[in-house]
Amino acid sequence: MAKTPFVTKEKVQEIASQYPTPFHLYDEKGIRENVSNLKKAFSWNKGYKEYFAVKATPNPFLIKILQEYGCGCDCSSKTELMLAKTIGATGDDIMFSSNDTPVEEFKYCNGLGGIINLDDITHIDAVEKACAGLPKKMSCRYNPGGLFKITNDIMDNPGDAKYGMTTEQIYEAFRILKEKGVEEFGIHSFLCSNTVTNEYYPLLAKILFELAADLKAKLGVHITFINLSGGIGVAYRPDQEPNDIFAIGEGVRKAYEEILVPAGMDDVSIYTELGRYMLAPYGALITKAIHEKHTHKEYIGVDACAANLMRPAIYGAYHHITVLGKENAPCDHKYDVTGSLCENCDKFAIDRMLPEISMGDYLFIHDAGAHGHSMGYNYNGKLRSAEILLKEDGSFQLIRRSETPEDYFATFDCFDFYDELIKD
Ligand SMILES: *Cc1c(COP(=O)(O)O)cnc(C)c1O
Repeated sequence: MAKTPFVTKEKVQEIASQYPTPFHLYDEKGIRENVSNLKKAFSWNKGYKEYFAVKATPNPFLIKILQEYGCGCDCSSKTELMLAKTIGATGDDIMFSSNDTPVEEFKYCNGLGGIINLDDITHIDAVEKACAGLPKKMSCRYNPGGLFKITNDIMDNPGDAKYGMTTEQIYEAFRILKEKGVEEFGIHSFLCSNTVTNEYYPLLAKILFELAADLKAKLGVHITFINLSGGIGVAYRPDQEPNDIFAIGEGVRKAYEEILVPAGMDDVSIYTELGRYMLAPYGALITKAIHEKHTHKEYIGVDACAANLMRPAIYGAYHHITVLGKENAPCDHKYDVTGSLCENCDKFAIDRMLPEISMGDYLFIHDAGAHGHSMGYNYNGKLRSAEILLKEDGSFQLIRRSETPEDYFATFDCFDFYDELIKD
C-alpha cells in the first residue's frame, strides 16, 4: 500500500515558520478515526476498554484525545502514573503493568486506586507490605514460555522474555491471592511485539481464555477481565498489508464464544494496552535537508538525528520517508539519510531510493507517532524536539516545546558553575 503523508508541504512550511524543524507532528483526525474504529471492533464486548500504553507517547494532549473515547492509561513507572493522575485518570482508568517494580511504585499506584498487574509471584508479598493488605482486584501477567508460532512462522520467543509468570506460578499466585481475600481477578499477557497479522490477538485470546476457564474451574476464582495487552503492529513498510482491526475484533469474539461463553464466563471484559497501533501512523518526524555529501556514497544530512527517533539506529527499523512536495516524483536517487550524531548508526535510511533531494526540502518520516519522541535521548548534547498537533480544522498547536540548553543542564543547577553553563 502506498504510504501518504497526512500533511502537505505548504502546511509544513507554515508550521516551520513558527516552530523550526525538527519536530514531531501528530494528526488529530487520524487518531480519532483509528480509536473510534478500535472501539467499534470490540463493541460486542460490554466491558471492553483500551488502556493506552503511556510509554509509547507520553503526551497529555494526545492521551486526552484518547480519553474522550473511554481509554484508560497503561503505566509502567511512577512518572507515568503521575502523568495519568494529572490528566484525571484514577481507579479503574489506570492499569499498572510494570516489571521489576520498586515497592514505592506499588504503593503510589494503590493510592490512585489503579489496577496492579503483577509481573511475578514474589510481588504478592511486596504489594501486601507496601499497601498494608492486598487490593480487592488484582491481575497477574502470564508467560507460557516456548516459542509463539502462527502456523509455521515463529512470531516471537516468550521463553526468552523476562515478563510474566509460568503456568505453575500463575495457578499458585491465584490460589494465594484468593486465600488472602482478593475478589476480582484479571489475566494479562504480551507475547509478541509489532505483529502485522490479524491472527495474533485471536490466538493469544484462545490461550488466555482456556487458562481463565481452567483457573475458574480449579480454583473457583472470579475472573472479571482478560487483558490482551499490546502487540498489534503497524505496516512500517509500504509493501506490508496493515492489520484489519475489525477482523481482529471478530477473531477474538469467536474465541470468546467458543471458550468463555460455554464456561459460564460471558461477563468477562476484554482489555487491551495498545501503544503502537494507537498512534504510530498518526505521528511523523518532520526534518529538513541541510547538507548533501558526495563521498563513497550519496548522503543527505538532515536537522533531526537518532536522538529524535532512535528505532532505525537501534533496531535497524524501517521508517518510510516522503520528500514533501515531491510525492509523485520518480524515486531515482539512492541516498543514505543521516543525522548529526557522532555514531555511524545515525541514519534514518540506508541505500533508500528517493526523489532527488534539494537543500531545504522537508522530509516526512512516517510512523513515528509511537516509540518515537518518547525514546528520545540527549546523546551528543542533542536536545529533544517539539511536538505539534495538527488539528482536524487544519490549525496547529504546540503540545510540547523543544528542549533548551537549560533543560539539558538542569541537573547541574545545584552546582555553582550552572549560571556560567547557561549564560549563552
Ligand atoms: C510496551 C507495552 C505495551 C504497548 O506495546 P505496543 O507494542 O506499543 O502496542 C503494552 N503493555 C505493556 C505491558 C508494554 O510493556
